[in-house]
Amino acid sequence: MTTKEMETVLAKLSNHEIIRRGDRAVRCRHELAIEILDCLVEIEGRSIFLKEGYSSLFDYCTRRWHYSPPKAGRFIAAARCIKNFSAVRNLLSQRRITLCGVSRIAGILTDENADRIVREVSGKKYVEIEKIVASFKIAPKTRESIRPIGLQDPAGGRDRSADHEDLFRPNPTPEHYQIESDITDDRAAQSGGNSPVEHLIQRPGHRYEIRFSASEEFRRDLGRAKTVCSRSWNLEAILGRAIKDLLEKRDPERKEARRKKREARKQEKSRGRSPVNPATVSEPTAKDEKKTPGRGTQTSPGRSRHIPDQLRDAVFTRDEGRCTYTSSLGIRCDATAHLQIDHITPYCRGGEHSVDNLRILCGKHNRLAAREMSLTNR
Ligand SMILES: [Zn+2]
Repeated sequence: MTTKEMETVLAKLSNHEIIRRGDRAVRCRHELAIEILDCLVEIEGRSIFLKEGYSSLFDYCTRRWHYSPPKAGRFIAAARCIKNFSAVRNLLSQRRITLCGVSRIAGILTDENADRIVREVSGKKYVEIEKIVASFKIAPKTRESIRPIGLQDPAGGRDRSADHEDLFRPNPTPEHYQIESDITDDRAAQSGGNSPVEHLIQRPGHRYEIRFSASEEFRRDLGRAKTVCSRSWNLEAILGRAIKDLLEKRDPERKEARRKKREARKQEKSRGRSPVNPATVSEPTAKDEKKTPGRGTQTSPGRSRHIPDQLRDAVFTRDEGRCTYTSSLGIRCDATAHLQIDHITPYCRGGEHSVDNLRILCGKHNRLAAREMSLTNR
C-alpha cells in the first residue's frame, strides 16, 4: 500500500477507530519484538550466526537485519536476559516492562536478586527502572572532560539545559551513553591521558560540553540551588556564579589586585609618602602577622616555614599562575594545576621567603628539582 492509499484509508476512519488501530499496531510490534528475542536465543544457542558467516550475534543483527549498534546491543542483552530469567520474559509478555527496560536490568540480574528486581521493575517507567538499576551498580568512572562542541547559536536558541527534569535525570539513555563513552575513549587516547582541559584553545563564542560525575550530596545541593535561584537560571548560570564567588575569595591575582588597591588608597590618604612600589609588595604587613598569630615570618625572630599569603599571591601573580620550570631549550611547563611554591635556595639551607627566592612549580617539577638538588650535593 502506498502512502497515498494509506492516507485515503485512514481518512475514512473515525477518531475511535484510529486509536484502536494504533493500539493494535503497538501490541503487534511488542509481540513481534518478543518473537525476535526468542529467535535470537535460538540463533545464539545453535551458533547459527557462525554457520551463516557472521562473526558474532552483534555482527548478525547489524549486517543481516541492519539494526543500529545500540539497537543490536539492546536486543542481544534482552534476549540473553529472557533466556536466563523466565520471570522477565513473563513480565515482557504481560507488557509490564519494555524491551529497553529489559536490556537495562540485564546487567544487574543474578539468581539471588532476580525475584526482587522483577518485582521492583514491574510496571515502572524507564526512568524509574534506571534509578533501580543505579542502586545495584558501582558507578562507572567518568572521565572529566571539557570539549568544544560548536559556536554559540546567534539566534539564541532555547537551551534545553534549563529543563529541570533534564538536569536531574539520573542517567543518560543507553544510546547517549554509548556515543559518549566512544568519544571519551577516543579523546583519552588522543590526549595521551592528560586532562583535556590543558589542551583547549580559548575561543570566545564557542560552546563547550563539560562532563564529570558527582555525589548524591552534590546533586542535592544543585537541586537546592536550582530551587533558590530564579527559574531562568540554568546549570551554567548556577555553577558560573558559584565559581565566580570562589575565585573572588581564593584567586591570588584578585586578592593581590585588591591589596594593591587598598594600599594605593591608604597612600593617597596619607599624602607625602612615596607611591606604591610593586617591589614592596613582597614585604609582609603587620596585618599578615596579625592574621597568623604564633607563625613568624622571615622578619620575625625565630624562622618559620610559613610563607605569608601576601608573598604567595605576589609570586603567583608574577609567575602567571603557571609552573615556571623551563627546559634547556627554553620550553616552559604549561601546568596550571597542582602548583606548589618552591624556594630556589632551599629553606633548610637558609633560603629566605622572598619574591626573588620563591617560584611556582608543578608537583612533578618540584620533585624533579629536589632530586637534582640532592644529586648535585652528593
Ligand atoms: Zn611543571
